[in-house]
Amino acid sequence: MNINRPARMIYPEPKQVKWQEGTLRIDKPQVLTLPGNSQCADFFAETWRNFTSGTSVVTINAAALPANTFTLAAEKSPALPDLAGKSTYALKIDTQGIAAKAADETALRQAWLSMLQMLNARPGAREISGFQIPCAEIQDYPLMKFRSAHLCIFPETSLKALEKSIQLLGMYKYTHVVLEFWGMLKLDALPELAWPQAYSKDQVRPLLQLIRDLGMKPIPMFNHWGHATASRVRCGRHVVLDQNPLFEPLFEPDGWTWCLSSPETLKLLAEVRRELIEFFGEVEYFHLGCDEAYSHATCDACRQHDPAELLAEYLNAVNTDLKNRNIRPFIWGDALLDASCWNGYIALSRADQRTHEALELLSRDFIIADWQYGIQDKTQNATVKHFMEHGFDVVTAPWHDTLNIDALGEIAIEQNAFGMMLTTWHTLPVHIDILFHAGNIMWGGKNAGSNNPQYSRTSITSQAAFLRKIRKGPAAFADAGWRSFETVEIKEP
Ligand SMILES: [Zn+2]
Repeated sequence: MNINRPARMIYPEPKQVKWQEGTLRIDKPQVLTLPGNSQCADFFAETWRNFTSGTSVVTINAAALPANTFTLAAEKSPALPDLAGKSTYALKIDTQGIAAKAADETALRQAWLSMLQMLNARPGAREISGFQIPCAEIQDYPLMKFRSAHLCIFPETSLKALEKSIQLLGMYKYTHVVLEFWGMLKLDALPELAWPQAYSKDQVRPLLQLIRDLGMKPIPMFNHWGHATASRVRCGRHVVLDQNPLFEPLFEPDGWTWCLSSPETLKLLAEVRRELIEFFGEVEYFHLGCDEAYSHATCDACRQHDPAELLAEYLNAVNTDLKNRNIRPFIWGDALLDASCWNGYIALSRADQRTHEALELLSRDFIIADWQYGIQDKTQNATVKHFMEHGFDVVTAPWHDTLNIDALGEIAIEQNAFGMMLTTWHTLPVHIDILFHAGNIMWGGKNAGSNNPQYSRTSITSQAAFLRKIRKGPAAFADAGWRSFETVEIKEP
């Protein structure tokens, strides 16, 4: 074996891989040994079955192993590796078996996902005759602690497509998945908040479990200010008012923005929060949206208030409600940047609204997601610095342009920001590669993997392979890959 050539690509690229002579052959029944209290057994066993196309038998053995470890072997369990330096997991494969040790359960799941990517059918036969993994020792840890992606569920988003996006985020070792339902989750708080074709909680619940199985955590999102329509601005629908115009007073006159001086609006949004938090289970964060509130404070009641004070008072009250449940809020940052000052940045506080003046008034519990899609240069870090200097935690938020992802990834790392939140919006099916690109930067920085063309050029084919293998069994055309079509490209960004 040529030791200088990576024996397998692993995404994101681990910090240290020592490829060694020899190959672990897997053709006998395997024993997966975990500590007695491990929560990982079912997911590990299921993914092992799927990645081996059901041909490798695995039995679970609960033993007195240290916490956050596993071994997988046909006979005698191999020795556990030690965590070196900053490593959050260590993975060792020798000719006897596989052993892993991690700093916590999340990192143990990440070790498992790295191992699965190294597992391949033995070459030479027409059909699977066994599996093998090249011997290696891996020490790995992320550069960025909070690594998230924001996924949208539109009426056109199938649950299968959502499931695949989540699986890829798991493969790339993201920590959090923000789920924004564009009128696509049925809510008891107000049936008109969902379209008739919306998914039920029972349909979505398995995906919340999948997020956790993959070592990530879900973040519920519900727009608490602008985007109250649950429709994109250029589509013009209104999930509530198109179905029931009687609810008009809940919103500003154009319907786009919630009316912040209406007690009924505040009551409804509090019910939505409570319902989503109950449904999502234990969560650390809630994303309140709060971008593009074009018609803020335009109704006759809201116009009596100072726009910035009205906003700050409202958001601080929502924060207090969340804080009582030990949850921190995310908000988008555009309304908190003065449009007349921030040339070259996305800044949407207009002269007639001056909502940027709310920044000083807001609780520092808020984490600001600074979406800046035009930046391709890491020296354009002024908004991140601005928010951090005001005492806020900040995540940078790029979209589908890889130069934008690079720049905002580097800014987040260099400024030691809270982390990053990749946004995907309606373009995810045509830009699925950004999940890899952003995940790789969040894990290892801009240069990780990029000095190896084989690495970056196989990322998209390897993620396709991952999706095929994590799935149970064959798929028809419509469920294969990640697009519902082969030839049509969506041009609209
Ligand atoms: Zn109003």
